[in-house]
Amino acid sequence: MPAIASGKVLVTGANGYVAVWLVKQLLEQGFSVRGTVRSPAKAEHLKKLFASHGDKLEFVVVEDITKDGAFDEAVKGVDAIQHTASPFHFNAVDPSEIIGPAVAGTGTILQSALKFGTNVKRVVVLSSTAAVQEAGLPEPKVFTEKDWNNKAIEEVETKGKDADQIEKYTASKTLAEKAAWAWYEKNKAQLKWDLVVVNPPFVFGPLIHEISDVSALNTSMNLWYLFVLKGAGDAATLATVGNCWADVRDVATALVRALEKPEAGGERFIISAGPWKWQDWVNSARKFSPSVPAGNTEWKRETNVDPIITDSSKASKVLGVTYIPLDQTTKDILADFEQRGWWKS
Ligand code: NDP
Repeated sequence: MPAIASGKVLVTGANGYVAVWLVKQLLEQGFSVRGTVRSPAKAEHLKKLFASHGDKLEFVVVEDITKDGAFDEAVKGVDAIQHTASPFHFNAVDPSEIIGPAVAGTGTILQSALKFGTNVKRVVVLSSTAAVQEAGLPEPKVFTEKDWNNKAIEEVETKGKDADQIEKYTASKTLAEKAAWAWYEKNKAQLKWDLVVVNPPFVFGPLIHEISDVSALNTSMNLWYLFVLKGAGDAATLATVGNCWADVRDVATALVRALEKPEAGGERFIISAGPWKWQDWVNSARKFSPSVPAGNTEWKRETNVDPIITDSSKASKVLGVTYIPLDQTTKDILADFEQRGWWKS
């Protein structure tokens, strides 16, 4: 059960929404960080943001994470790996456009860790509850770490380009995580490290990554901006569309704990602060900013049914994850957006 309490951590896709919070927490807890980015320019914001940490932060450019040996240099000398680089968008025409980098990127990091990660004690892969939960079931269901989203894989196999964008993304996460566990089972006898997978649901919260303007928001926060602040959903959508969620800062904490807890080795962990419907976020936002569109004023959480519930008790027990409440996350997002000039209370 290897784990680490100090040393150098490789973070792939270090410039992403979730990853920058992870880099922040790792540095604040005394770890050194080597981040991978796709071009030198993508490291500049992080260098400025974390300038006070001096040479504890360094970068390696990995232009194409799908190429054999992509991470061979990056893994040399690191004590652990956090693999976060993976596409999260709803723009794929052919499912392979999103499944390809998700699966191949996971394969290349594991293979490089095997070949050149002589100091590596643990690899953490950031998956998603997209790999766990199946949408559109006739009855509400509580999902646990034993569940897999096989339905998304079937959808993309049968429908191809015509599959729903959400199914293309969720299939990419399911196939990438399945590939990681299959690779691990096959190779674990020869490894000095173990694998941990963290499965968050929708991640919301303030931003510290580089972002030029509101049109460049990452996928989860773009949806939040559109549905909560811009009135993008009709009454039915606000009342029925939802999922589970976690604050980006709690997800970063869970990822750090996944490195530190010996007993986490070989396990996947659902992270979840609970279920939401868009109207929950609208109601929350209106507590802090009356100019937020009222949405569906008939909807009541007390009589609402959540079709998807995720059981995050294992992460609470093993990783000791606790959750920022929904109102606090809303308040912090609004303050962040206001300070960027994207919202006025
Ligand atoms: P971002 O889009 O902000 O970050 C994605 C990161 O992955 C970026 O560094 C990006 O690099 C990199 N990346 C994307 N596609 C490729 C590719 N083809 N080759 C190399 N690098 C690539 O998204 P998030 O921070 O939200 O997502 C990070 C991870 O968290 C993903 O694995 C996602 O599936 C997972 N996740 C996110 C959730 C959420 O609600 N945000 C929920 C659950 C899981 P670049 O900037 O160069 O494009």
